[in-house]
Amino acid sequence: PFLLFVDNDSRPDLDRHFSAVQSGRRSTTELWLTPDKRPPFPVILESIQLGDGWGTGWRCLTTALDITERKQAEQALLASETRFRAIFEQSPLAIQIIGRDAQPRMSNRAWVKLWGDSSTIPTPGQRHPVLSRIGAEKSFTEGLAGNSVEIPAIHVTASGERNDDRWVHGYVYPIRELNGGIPEIVLVNEDVSERKRIELALADQTELLRRQYESLRVLSEIAALPPSSASQRLTEALDLGRRHLGLSTGLISRVEGNRLTVENYAAPTGAGVTDGTLHDFALTCCSLAIEQGDVVAIAHMRRSPLAGHACYTAHRLESYIGVPVSIRGRPYGALSFYSPTPSAREFDDGDKEFMRLLARWVGAVLEEEATLRELARSNAELEQFAYVSSHDLRQPLRQVSSYVSMLERRYGDKLDADAHEFIAYARDGALRMDRLIVDLLEFSRIGRNIKAIAPVALAEVVKDAIANLTLSLSDTNGRVDIRGELPVVKGDASDLVRLFQNLIGNAIKYSLPERPPVVEISVETQPMTHVVTVQDNGIGILPEYFETIFGVFKRLHTPDQYDGNGIGLAICKKVIDQHGGRIWVDSTPSEGTAFHIELPRGL
Ligand code: ADP
Repeated sequence: PFLLFVDNDSRPDLDRHFSAVQSGRRSTTELWLTPDKRPPFPVILESIQLGDGWGTGWRCLTTALDITERKQAEQALLASETRFRAIFEQSPLAIQIIGRDAQPRMSNRAWVKLWGDSSTIPTPGQRHPVLSRIGAEKSFTEGLAGNSVEIPAIHVTASGERNDDRWVHGYVYPIRELNGGIPEIVLVNEDVSERKRIELALADQTELLRRQYESLRVLSEIAALPPSSASQRLTEALDLGRRHLGLSTGLISRVEGNRLTVENYAAPTGAGVTDGTLHDFALTCCSLAIEQGDVVAIAHMRRSPLAGHACYTAHRLESYIGVPVSIRGRPYGALSFYSPTPSAREFDDGDKEFMRLLARWVGAVLEEEATLRELARSNAELEQFAYVSSHDLRQPLRQVSSYVSMLERRYGDKLDADAHEFIAYARDGALRMDRLIVDLLEFSRIGRNIKAIAPVALAEVVKDAIANLTLSLSDTNGRVDIRGELPVVKGDASDLVRLFQNLIGNAIKYSLPERPPVVEISVETQPMTHVVTVQDNGIGILPEYFETIFGVFKRLHTPDQYDGNGIGLAICKKVIDQHGGRIWVDSTPSEGTAFHIELPRGL
């Protein structure tokens, strides 16, 4: 009797089952059986009373149906449902199942968090709020047609818990029934705001970096502008600057009192700007930068707080970026770029830094120009002074010598030997004084006139210098030997002739009486320079004078020993300084002296 196998726990159910049947009802109960030879299994017990026609007691017909498999299927379904729920509910992705009628069937927590509770749509046939919001209605139709669709990230104002702007990315998947029908789709949304924000910030940074690089490139291009006149360089810099900033016009203005003068500009033809245009300072945008004392950058004037400013009303410039310019710390004016139209983009910190650096460069160029102007003026003054003074000084000297000569001519026969000697001293003194003035004048003139620097063949230079010294060479039986090939250098030929003439002249002058002067000129070429050496076999110089001899009027001898006034080497040093070179001496007394000249290579 199978009743023996009913599990103890199921016994109360069994009792209830039979008492129900006994009271005349049909009864169905689920029980567990625990037979000896197999594991417990569930059955459905179904009993029906058969009446009592068989005497005392009652009877029923009972069937027991083994429901093991059904139970397992049910349990599997339950487990699957639990899993689905867990995944669905706990997913960080916002998920909604939407029916063919566009009515939401199920939404998970993340969905509600993202979009708010949009589970009901007021009237059927109305558009699904989220689908229309993210522009995914077409994807919905696609999903119903059985396709999986990705919805690219889109910027939306969400309405869930965080009611701020965000970026949402999505997918639509069809849900297929066994018969192939698609009654619903799944819409999955992911909030990718954080990722998108980082992506955008990165793109911003990259763009900023690219612009910084571009600014630096333009600045170095400006710094490397070929050396032309200041105004040409400034105009070219303004042109590069306006192109870089994407604005139509660039200008440098000078401010004096309440007047502003356009000094340099770069603008498309017909922009109506001219050099020297005067403006009322208060009505110009430059006044903004000057009042601010730093960069002022406005990409769209009409939309800026400055829309009411007089400069906007006066000139209607929509975009403006400007910075004050100063020379030697003193305010000069402003460097400005502008367009009658708004700038295509906002100005950033990189643009402001660009303006500051460019303003410094402009200040330096203007300063250089001012210095050159001052220098030219003071040089002209000095030259005038040198000319006048030499002229004025030489005049009385000539007078002294001519009167001394007259004295000698007229009263010569009446004068004694002493008087003749004094007259000779006086004439000699006047002569030397005159030469001194001429030499000084020459010294002051070196490098004064900015001459065209051109390639100069030193071989020619030395040849000319020797030609000028023919007389002293023949007087002393001296000679000049040139060892190797002399280079071509960049410089001023006449100054270089003077340099070699002085050096070779000294080599002849300071020779020893016992041997005729031999001057040897040689060259040693270094990676960056040529070193030319003028070596003699003369009296030599003591090392303690190696530096002093290059000073003006510095001599080691009196005129009666060796003629001269101590300006020759000072001239040599000045010429070499003008050529960006170096001069120094090397000597052994009684053996000879070597003067070395170092000049830059390259033409
Ligand atoms: P100056 O020859 O008119 O005296 P310089 O300026 O040419 O003036 O030379 C300065 C001094 O350097 C000379 O007085 C002389 O004493 C010394 N000096 C120059 N060149 C030589 C040389 N080649 N040998 C020896 N001494 C020299």
